[in-house]
Amino acid sequence: MSSIFTRIVDREIPADIVFENERVIAFKDIAPQAPVHLLVVPKTELYANVAELAAGDPVLLAEVVAVAQQLASEHADGEFRLIFNSGPSAGQTVFHVHAHVL
Ligand code: AMP
Repeated sequence: MSSIFTRIVDREIPADIVFENERVIAFKDIAPQAPVHLLVVPKTELYANVAELAAGDPVLLAEVVAVAQQLASEHADGEFRLIFNSGPSAGQTVFHVHAHVL
């Protein structure tokens, strides 16, 4: 069963997509916690959380951060919070690594 974010990548469920390239997609969070609340997501669902991504593909993690910076400049003043909930007790509900940009 694909993750909900893979289903967004595959256009099986709709999302308000604000950025996409070969390896990364970004879209508006469905339940925003701030005036700007975007999710930046590696297209691969190989990594469940940021520690796995950092260990397995640090260049892809750096791409996620660069996309977050670009989106913060486009959607706000370029300053941003970047949050990776890691593990259920930290509030993670989707186990396909993603950055919250607020
Ligand atoms: P986390 O709790 O860190 O795993 O974050 C998961 C986030 O995904 C939450 O902020 C949800 O609001 C968001 N979310 C879940 N389903 C969707 C969806 N279909 N489209 C956009 N955002 C979603």
